[in-house]
Amino acid sequence: MNTSQNHFGRRIAAAVLLIALLLAAVIVSLVVSTKDFRKEPAYAKPATSTTQPATTAKPAAEPKEAKSSNSEKADGKPAPDSKTEQNEPDGKVIYLTFDDGPGPYTAKLLKILKKYDVPATFFVTNQFPEYQDLIGEEAKDGHAIANHVYSHTYSRIYADPHAFWTYYNKMNKVIEKQTGYKTYLLRFPGGSSNTVSRYFETGIMKALSKECKKRGITYVDWNVDCNDAGGANTSDAVYYNLINGVQQMTREKQPSVLLCHDIHPQTVNAMPRFIKWARSHGYTFELLSPNGFTVHMEIAN
Ligand code: ZN
Repeated sequence: MNTSQNHFGRRIAAAVLLIALLLAAVIVSLVVSTKDFRKEPAYAKPATSTTQPATTAKPAAEPKEAKSSNSEKADGKPAPDSKTEQNEPDGKVIYLTFDDGPGPYTAKLLKILKKYDVPATFFVTNQFPEYQDLIGEEAKDGHAIANHVYSHTYSRIYADPHAFWTYYNKMNKVIEKQTGYKTYLLRFPGGSSNTVSRYFETGIMKALSKECKKRGITYVDWNVDCNDAGGANTSDAVYYNLINGVQQMTREKQPSVLLCHDIHPQTVNAMPRFIKWARSHGYTFELLSPNGFTVHMEIAN
């Protein structure tokens, strides 16, 4: 009896132990699983545990977009990026330049520029002699007049340096007649990096650019092309080429020198929208001058 009682007691003890163990197991598994549940919000946790960097990271990312597109002043937060940006106002300057005119759309462009009070630099030619008077109008309105050479026919102007300077001087006379002053600002037709001149005279662009220095002439290329002479046939295409190019220059902390042609209607029609965009994003418009900012491409001939 004693032994069987003992036996019975041991059995109960074993059963209690088992139940206790089972209970313990259940409790442990519950704790673990709730921990796991807590880990789920842990998607948010990396963010919550780094709550401060997360909230500061957010504005840091937003000004990044806003920086190139919007005023840094709006959020006074000194995000490191916008701080350097503020020290580099160059990235917020636009030089609007129009080549190849004056022509049939120039008068409309002048009205737009006057309405928005925006200065531009005109690189003029004599391709449309009947519009020559508009060079005077451009100057009267406070725009800068620069030489883009009397003719735009590459085979003539790049035949040899003498030919080039003859066409250059001829245009300067027209400019002087229209404005009363000489210009020392030049843009080579096709830009200084053009390769088309190779067909007519090897090394002519090198020679001409050196000669510019001797003559005290500043030549200016561009760093943003609206591509209206290429595939940009609509105002939308011109507009997006311009704003994309300007934003890229802002990222590089460079002023933007825009290549546009006032002989293309889609370019003139894109201007109000572009000017509004630029103004609302903190850009200012400036005139090119012989002693001011210039941009040079790599000479390829
Ligand atoms: Zn041109």
